[in-house]
Amino acid sequence: MKKTMQAMVLDHCAPLTENPNPLRSAELPVPIPRSGEILIEVKACGVCRTDLDDIEARTAPSFFPIILGHQVVGVVRGRGERASRFTQGSRVGVGWIHSACGECEYCLSGRENLCARFGATGRDADGGYAEYAVVPEGFAAFLPDSLADTAAAPLLCAGAVGYRALRLSGITDGDALGFSGFGASGHIVLQAARTLFPRLRLYVFARSPEQRRFALSLGADWTGSFDETPPRPLDAVIDTTPVWEPLARLAPRLKAGGRFVINAIRKESIDNEILAMIEYEQHLWLEKEIKSVANVTRRDIEEVLQLAGRTSLEPEVTVYPLADANRALNDLKHGDQRGAKVLVL
Ligand SMILES: [Zn+2]
Ligand SMILES: [Zn+2]
Repeated sequence: MKKTMQAMVLDHCAPLTENPNPLRSAELPVPIPRSGEILIEVKACGVCRTDLDDIEARTAPSFFPIILGHQVVGVVRGRGERASRFTQGSRVGVGWIHSACGECEYCLSGRENLCARFGATGRDADGGYAEYAVVPEGFAAFLPDSLADTAAAPLLCAGAVGYRALRLSGITDGDALGFSGFGASGHIVLQAARTLFPRLRLYVFARSPEQRRFALSLGADWTGSFDETPPRPLDAVIDTTPVWEPLARLAPRLKAGGRFVINAIRKESIDNEILAMIEYEQHLWLEKEIKSVANVTRRDIEEVLQLAGRTSLEPEVTVYPLADANRALNDLKHGDQRGAKVLVL
């Protein structure tokens, strides 16, 4: 086996506008799996908005230089001591969750996403923007054979976190579900929702006409801008935008007892103008809830992969070679938001 590998590494945080090529191509030793870890030969790695948060210091990595990437698809090529879950050659996927303590009340109740010692792939450990990666075997997931590498990659974060948001929305079949924003996560969650709940009504709020057309092509019942009114009051909204304005715009569209689920790792700071728009009596009275989504559990990742493996759920992807990771990141920041972006190796 090879002794060295190509990787794209981040040396320090800076805004992408100041440093449009934040990742440096490097030749590094192939990592050696320690006890309980597997070595993965990476085949594809999704590019996520959170990678921009890592680069621009909103969720700064815990060490440098670091290899980003937390939607890692690959094949098991090595196993450390006490790693027996996967055989050599197994296809696996790794998402944002890299590790958790395994002992706290959250870990013991299947909510390891809330563990205080939660470690993230590509932020607290090297990720998948490289030819090889090592991960704890307990945090890798089996990939269904029917899923192509590039289709599986965006499911590992955009899909899994979105799937978690769908679960946390509490919707049941026949309900009205709104989507606030329609990017990589939204386009997967809409398909998952359609598959799980055939009678669900799906209403998509998106700024760009192109995103609205895309949503309709995937089976949305209605699309509009944030100040338009959908044909029915909404049981829940899944919000994937990085701003607060959708809460002010869409909370009035929620039914009494409705839930607004924020599926974003961060929101831009709220300004007084937006705050003034959120009137308690008008927006949040009648037991309306706001709920955030934090990270993902292994169960979210496994379930979304299984769902995709047995249905026609398929992310739309744009592929880039590993060496073009900087271009993919800039396209994500500035360019079109349709579907998901994936590096291939
Ligand atoms: Zn824990
Ligand atoms: Zn992500």
